[in-house]
Amino acid sequence: MLRTVLLRAAGNERIKDAALAVPLTRAVVERFIAGETAEDALAAARRLTDDGLLVTVDHLGEHTRERAAAERVTVAYLELLQAVRTAGLGPQVEVSVKLSALGQLLPGDGESVAVEQARLICAAARNAGTTVTVDMEDHTTTASTLAVVEELRQDFPQTGAVLQANLRRTEADCERLAHSGSRVRLCKGAYASPEEVAYRPGAEVDLSYVRCLRVLMEGLGYPMVATHDPRLVAIAQDLANRNHREPGSWELQMLHGIRPEEQRRLVAAGHQVRVYLPYGTDWYGYMVRRMAEKPANLALFLRGLTSR
Ligand code: FAD
Repeated sequence: MLRTVLLRAAGNERIKDAALAVPLTRAVVERFIAGETAEDALAAARRLTDDGLLVTVDHLGEHTRERAAAERVTVAYLELLQAVRTAGLGPQVEVSVKLSALGQLLPGDGESVAVEQARLICAAARNAGTTVTVDMEDHTTTASTLAVVEELRQDFPQTGAVLQANLRRTEADCERLAHSGSRVRLCKGAYASPEEVAYRPGAEVDLSYVRCLRVLMEGLGYPMVATHDPRLVAIAQDLANRNHREPGSWELQMLHGIRPEEQRRLVAAGHQVRVYLPYGTDWYGYMVRRMAEKPANLALFLRGLTSR
């Protein structure tokens, strides 16, 4: 119930505008977000790579309402990737991109605006010796997002896709994308979706996750197992062993600030672990989704707001 209310609030522009008027609170910054600037993100990324972790950096923001704003998001990524290049953090630090931030939902030619902007980011990533993964957003964008990833992969074959185990279509998408050279991040899915297209949160989603994971691990691609769920992490390890996967042929992924000790324990045990590291000022949608996943975060967030 609270999850549904929170996920509805994530898309509410009026609540968002009110929330964004509040400066980022220290508690929130320290727990989930690297800070507001590319320098903050780079410094946090360096601390993570020093600990043996890999990183994917996300410039916060989504649902861009005008082309100029989409172009500003691209500029932010280009500056970030230039900094990654200068720092020589190339393959360890990649970027995650939301197509809705790049104009995907603009009326008319939104999808082609997003492709154009994403291509600039992919080219900058290649120059920095690294890759881009295209985040997946709500279910109404799945087909468009996968089509854009396919188009980007023609020139930038390492572009990663994200699939959400809560969607009924995803097992078939895994079959289609489990080919050589394909990088696929599998997550449970952070958006509310109707029952016609999605499984109910909980056991149904977890079972779907395992079926999808089996397809990806048996396939020829590079599975990116994005979950904090200890049972799914153990199943991923087991499936990797059964399929004789070498350590560098798949990776685990977790969000910055969630189970950090476990991230380091997994690295010490010989796994590749990538941390999703968001930065920027447009934190509203990201934070509300984290609260929907674990309502205790709501208390942390509210304490942060009131302790200033
Ligand atoms: P859950 O069952 O939700 O959580 C398992 C355990 O992890 C919980 O018991 C708790 O201990 C811990 N935990 C989980 N979430 C939190 C939290 N917010 N705060 C504190 N502890 C928590 N979703 C998308 O829809 N599109 C994407 O592109 C996308 N990219 C992602 C990238 C990465 C690297 C990761 C890790 C997740 C991504 N997600 C994305 C979010 C994902 O879909 C889930 O909503 C999220 O990961 C929570 O699911 P879970 O698998 O961790 O399992």
